[in-house]
Amino acid sequence: MIIIMNNQVADAQIDAVVQRLKTWGLDSNVSRGVERTVIGAIGDESKIDKELLQALPGVEQVIRVMKPYKIVARSYHQEDTVIDIKGIKLGGRKIQVIGGPCSVETQVQMDEAAKGVAAAGCSMMRGGAFKPRTSPYTFQGAGVEGLDMFRKAADKYNLPVVTELMDVRQIDAFMQYDVDVIQIGTRNMQNFDLLKEVGRLHKPVILKRGMAATISEWLMAAEYIAAGGNHDIIFCERGVRSFETYYRNMLDVTAIPVLKKETHLPVIIDPSHAGGKAWMVPALSRAAIAAGADGLLVEMHPNPCEAWCDADQALNPQELIDLMGPLKGIAQAIGREL
Ligand code: PEP
Ligand code: MN
Repeated sequence: MIIIMNNQVADAQIDAVVQRLKTWGLDSNVSRGVERTVIGAIGDESKIDKELLQALPGVEQVIRVMKPYKIVARSYHQEDTVIDIKGIKLGGRKIQVIGGPCSVETQVQMDEAAKGVAAAGCSMMRGGAFKPRTSPYTFQGAGVEGLDMFRKAADKYNLPVVTELMDVRQIDAFMQYDVDVIQIGTRNMQNFDLLKEVGRLHKPVILKRGMAATISEWLMAAEYIAAGGNHDIIFCERGVRSFETYYRNMLDVTAIPVLKKETHLPVIIDPSHAGGKAWMVPALSRAAIAAGADGLLVEMHPNPCEAWCDADQALNPQELIDLMGPLKGIAQAIGREL
């Protein structure tokens, strides 16, 4: 950490900073310039309370040198982490596509959806039984009954189940139905108590990016899960809030190479919640694969016009099949497989 003192700093103020650093077990290197005095803190930066330092008289700016995240950082683990989900490898050479409806509605709908997901060659199935809806008066999800319908439908086609966890009180049901991948939604990316609980579980987690979260905040959210012992974390970019109204969210394709540099964990893209329209999904999916995503999370409904949630952005079963072909070509062109 580097502490820049203001230009009228007194010796006693410099001393106070040095003493404070000492209480945290750090040594100091004081460099007195003509314009500015700069103090370099030597030792374990994680022990420093940046705000406390910033509040000391004479301190102008405190700059971190170390990354605030550890376990999820590429520097902690050089190789790409490959997550095993019932034998399906996510984060390796093969790109995985997770397909399914926004929400679990009925057994017939889930059976049809599972059939479509398998027919398109997707390796996992998605669907929310607990839904984070903007309005409390819209469909809130089928709940535990939905988990039951989902499990039955997915098991017929041997598809691992990916579903959103909104509350710690739902964890027992998730364990009972042996949910394969827990999704933490955009609205809960910084629900730290939920992240801590998920960190204690032995289940892969898809961590969606918060609506206006910086990449650093997103990495720190993942660190909350990792710190609890669960290192099977998958980042999912689903578009961020922007000034544009033409589409639902702005897909941040740049986040893919940035995350690939900063973390060893897999990165997937949700083109459905980004564009918010089914017709945008193929173009966004192609961009995601070309930019290095390890997978996609795509909404597909057996009959989009009848969907209880996110009808506008759902592909139909044939559109999901049609999506896959061009993606295979792009994957091949960059030395991967789909
Ligand atoms: C979803 O996947 O259906 C969902 C609610 O996504 P998000 O959290 O990205 O809005
Ligand atoms: Mn949705």
